[in-house]
Formats: sequence, structure tokens, C-alpha cells
Amino acid sequence: MGIRTEQQYWDSIRKQKTKVYIMGEQVENVIDHPLIHGSASGAALTFRYANEPATRDLFTIHSPLVGEPVNRYVSIHNTIEDLMDKVKLVRFVAQKTGECAQRCMGWDALNAVYSTSYETDRKYETPYHSRFKEYLKWVQKNDMMVHGTMTDPRGDRSLKPAAQKDPDLYLRIVERRKTGIVVRGAKSHQGGILNHEEFLAMPSVSLRPEDKDYAVSFALPVDTKGITYVFGRHSMDDRLLEGNQFDMGNTKFGRYAMWVFFEDVFVPWERVFLCGETEFASMIVERFAGLHRQNYGACSAGGMDVLIGATSLIAEYNGIANAFHVKDKLVEMCALNETLYQGSLACSSQGEITPSGVAVMNKLLSYVTKLNVTRFPYEIARLAQDICGGIIGTMPSEKDYRNPEVGPLIEKYLKGVASVPTEHRMRMIRLIERMTCGRTLLVCMHGAGSPFANKMMIGRYTDMEEKRIFARDIAGVPEPPSQAALSSGSAKPLKP
Ligand SMILES: Cc1cc2nc3c(=O)[nH]c(=O)nc-3n(C[C@H](O)[C@H](O)[C@H](O)COP(=O)(O)OP(=O)(O)OC[C@H]3O[C@@H](n4cnc5c(N)ncnc54)[C@H](O)[C@@H]3O)c2cc1C
Repeated sequence: MGIRTEQQYWDSIRKQKTKVYIMGEQVENVIDHPLIHGSASGAALTFRYANEPATRDLFTIHSPLVGEPVNRYVSIHNTIEDLMDKVKLVRFVAQKTGECAQRCMGWDALNAVYSTSYETDRKYETPYHSRFKEYLKWVQKNDMMVHGTMTDPRGDRSLKPAAQKDPDLYLRIVERRKTGIVVRGAKSHQGGILNHEEFLAMPSVSLRPEDKDYAVSFALPVDTKGITYVFGRHSMDDRLLEGNQFDMGNTKFGRYAMWVFFEDVFVPWERVFLCGETEFASMIVERFAGLHRQNYGACSAGGMDVLIGATSLIAEYNGIANAFHVKDKLVEMCALNETLYQGSLACSSQGEITPSGVAVMNKLLSYVTKLNVTRFPYEIARLAQDICGGIIGTMPSEKDYRNPEVGPLIEKYLKGVASVPTEHRMRMIRLIERMTCGRTLLVCMHGAGSPFANKMMIGRYTDMEEKRIFARDIAGVPEPPSQAALSSGSAKPLKP
């Protein structure tokens, strides 16, 4: 089939028979539900742009595996240039959606499992990589949407999986059969998972030998029997249910996350890509999370491009566009934003080729990029709120605006500059509210790891000793003798 059209995607996704609960009720035809549809519309763009002449080169690439062009979101990165193109693509998509296509989780998962399964096989002569290649061929030929499913609920964060009081708080193998395995547990915060036909599950933490049953990676159709999805509420979900045109801020696209519960779900062997090799869990986690962090500087920058544009427009609508401090703040927002993007480009440009041939980002620079993403968008949002004014938190609803009694009062008194319709001003304020008060910032904070998770890795991959050597050299301070040299008597302590 090759590259699918947008219509083929919608037709396929609407056929899924998933078991989904939203606000206490089981939902049929979930993809057209108002809380879900906007996010699926973002995913659909990845098919539309792959077919449009102006964007085809960015959205497709030749796959050596199947010998034909495939959608980039199901490709393996073979070169540093592929990594650079990836971050250009994710910024572009975020600019068009004000959100994201939620398809890069799967893209990163495919690359993480492809490269890790190769290295697992090399050590243990397991069959994971050849299985995975067959799976990937099918995914590429059919342009499947595959979700990357990693985060476990994790219970008591101070305890490893097997040490938890409830062993199901990390997804685990509960039975090994001749034909496959049975898994039980859950995955939390799965962004846009119902927009996908398949998901690729991975461990979420490094594991010890006693955590063998948690070292599991596999792929299944999203609507597999035994899996239940429950919608995760967010701060603007009610507004999406009100049937308004603009009170939700983003009038076209959305984002959601699901909790996913696995009640003894069967996985056939041909879909299992890690099963008990605990030492390779951390490789999958690091590769997936690293590739995801690589995106974050770029996709956050794309989202912030929309926010900066909205802030510039509201400044104009409020009649303050020429004020010095406003111009200065807008430039500050742009500088912070391009710093995010630079991070994604930098960690891509300094990437490396792993033994399987998969190109991956520079780890240290990707952690720094993501750490910046947990900070700079908050500062950009602060400046946007400053320029927009208190009306972000007090504006009447769209229903009041459309009410024949109070609507005319709102039309008159919510006017900014005379040349701009009141409704345009209200729409822009709602967009700024959406991007500075809701989930956009939360995703920047926690998506692809919390600030501390990134700092911990920055500490691990930073060569502090090298920096100390530089400092000693420049300051003219000799290196103190080692403990071994002191004990053997071959060196004397430095004079105090
Ligand atoms: C909107 C959204 C969409 C997402 N989409 C996906 C997705 O599609 N797929 C996916 O797999 N994941 C997804 N995630 C999950 C994301 O990767 C996690 O939120 C992130 O890894 C943080 O985990 P957590 O939310 O469980 O927070 P926690 O890990 O509980 O973090 C909370 C705080 O506890 C600290 N902490 C945690 N563990 C320890 C410890 N052992 N010692 C000391 N401090 C600790 C953290 O540093 C942080 O400060 C999504 C998250 C969000 C918010």
C-alpha cells in the first residue's frame, strides 16, 4: 500500500473496536468524540502532508528495508541528516497544529526497539531483531500509526518493579506459553494512543535481574481484547463538550492522554521483542527517551511560534504593539524559543550511529534540550500573559457573547482597537489562555521526563574530571597524587 492518504487513515481508525471510558461512560466511535477528534485531526495531517507536493520531501523518505518511499513517521534514522530532518518536521507540525501530531512517540519507539533488539540478539542470540524487522516491514508497507507506550504507573517511586507491594504497578509478564506471553499491568498518560492502530510497549525504567518479568517489549493492535482505556481529564475538557466555536482556544486541533489497563492480555511470540533480558531495558528507555527529548526542543518551539504570533496579534488588538517594553518582550520570547530549537538541532548534529546502523542523538545535549523545555516555555508563557492582560482569566464565555441580551454589551465593552472585530480579539485571548494555562506547559514539564530526570542524566554524562583538569591547567595547580601512589610510597602528599 505504501503511503496512505488522509481519508484512508480516517476510514481505518474509525473501524477500531476499542474499549474506552470517558467521564464515566463507555464510548463507541471514540475517534469522533469531541475530546478525541481534534487530536486525531493532528495525526491525520501526517498523511495529508505526505501526499502534498510542497511537503512530500519533508514527510516521506526512501526505506532501504522495503525498497520504497515511506511516511517518515515509520522510518528508521540512518544518518545524521535524517535526525536533522526529523526536528524540522516536528517543528513544522507543531506550527500547523498549535499542538502536535502525537505520532513521534511511535517513531521514537520504532527506532529504540529496532536498535536495541539488534544488540540484544548479538549478546544472547535471541530472535528479536529479525522479528522486529518483519513487523517494521509490515508497518512501513501499510503506513500504520504505531504508538510508543512506555510510562508505567510506578506506585512507590523509591522502589523498583519487583519490590512494589502490588507487582502490577509496572507492566509485566504473568505467563509464558508455547504460543506467546500474557501481560498484566497498566501504562499511564498515553498521549493520543487511540489515534493509532498499533502500540509498541516498552519498559519505563532500568531493571535489576530480579525484575525479569518486567523486561518486556511487544506490539499489539490498539483494540486488542483485554485492554481498557480511560480518558485522563485536563483543564479545558468541559469546553470541548460545550459545542462552542472558539472557547476551547484551539479551534482545530487537540491533545489528550489515556490510562491503559491490561487485564491478562495475550501477545503472540512474533510480536515480542524483549522478554526477560533485564540489562537491555535501560537501553530501550534511554534510546526512546533520548530520541523523544531530541524532538522536544523543536516541537515546543513550533507550539511557542503559535503563542508568540498570538501575543504579537493581541498586542496589536490592544493598541500596545508599538510600546518599547512590548517589542522587547516579544524579542525575548523569540530568543528563548530559538534556543529551544537550537538544542534539538545541536543534539541531532552531534549524534552517532549505533551498531544496528540507527542514528541516535547526542545524549548529553538531548537532556540539556529537554531541561530547557521544562523552563523556557514557562517564561514565554509568562510574557504572553503579561502582554495579554488579566482578561485571560476573566473573559465572558462564548455562550454569553452569543446571547442576544448580554452579547451586544460584550461586543461593545470587550473591544480593543476600533479596526479589529471584538470576536477576533476574544478568539486570540482564548488561544493564549489555552496555551499558557492548560496542558501545553504541563507537557513541556513532564513529557519525556521531569526536570530532575534530565538533570540526573546531565550529571551522569558530564565529564566533570575533564573540567577540573582544564581548571588546574589554567590556574597552574598540580594534580594531587592518587591514593594508590600515596599508599605505595611512590608519591608524597602535596605540601599544605
Ligand atoms: C500530556 C502527557 C502526555 C504523555 N504522553 C506519553 C506517551 O504517549 N507515552 C508515554 O510512555 N508516556 C507519556 N507521558 C508520560 C511522561 O513521560 C511522564 O509524565 C514523565 O516521564 C514523568 O513521569 P510521571 O508523570 O509519572 O511523574 P513522576 O515520575 O512521578 O514525577 C514527579 C516528580 O517525582 C520525581 N521522581 C520520580 N521518581 C523519583 C525517584 N525515584 N526519586 C526521586 N524523585 C523522583 C520526579 O523527578 C518529579 O519531580 C505523557 C505525559 C504527559 C503529561
